[in-house]
Amino acid sequence: MEIKLSELKVLFSEEAIQKRIKELANEMNHFYKGEEVYAICVLKGAVMFATDLVKYLDMPLKMEFIRLSSYGTGTTSTGKVNAVDISLPDLNGKNVLIIEDIVDTGLTAKFLMDFMHCNFKTKSTKFCSLLDKKITRQTDIEPDYYGFEVDDKFVVGYGLDYEGYYRNLRYIGYVEK
Ligand code: 5GP
Repeated sequence: MEIKLSELKVLFSEEAIQKRIKELANEMNHFYKGEEVYAICVLKGAVMFATDLVKYLDMPLKMEFIRLSSYGTGTTSTGKVNAVDISLPDLNGKNVLIIEDIVDTGLTAKFLMDFMHCNFKTKSTKFCSLLDKKITRQTDIEPDYYGFEVDDKFVVGYGLDYEGYYRNLRYIGYVEK
């Protein structure tokens, strides 16, 4: 399937995304109550979401970036998670907030949660995803926080790509299958 910009339909507008991000940040500010947080942005897809979200978090916060990939080409998952760069500081005793773009099969989220549990004894590990595609889940992972639920559509924009393109869109769009 090829995706053309002219064929994209808006699923979540810039306004809707920004409004939801502020709501999520409010929930997180309440939960962490000023405790220090390590926000871990999963590149590349979560870059827009993570950088917007952290602007509204008011606790002491450090940002880390890791890079994973699971989609090879096109719109179908490879079903495999590749850790491209996952170097992290010592997170023992820390509050860790993993920030993802979308949970689809849940393999990436599971990989990351298992990685955290195997390597660190954190104070807390929470998983936040802008989008949650519950319908395609293949694991029992549920994000602690998510922005919007989506059905079985391939979505692009606001960090999410199609063959590297469309990450720069301010909205999230899709094409009919
Ligand atoms: P999972 O491991 O949960 O199957 O997939 C997670 C990753 O697959 C996401 O971080 C994202 O990069 C990619 N992905 C899953 N669904 C979509 C989608 O609808 N659009 C795009 N652009 N990427 C997706």
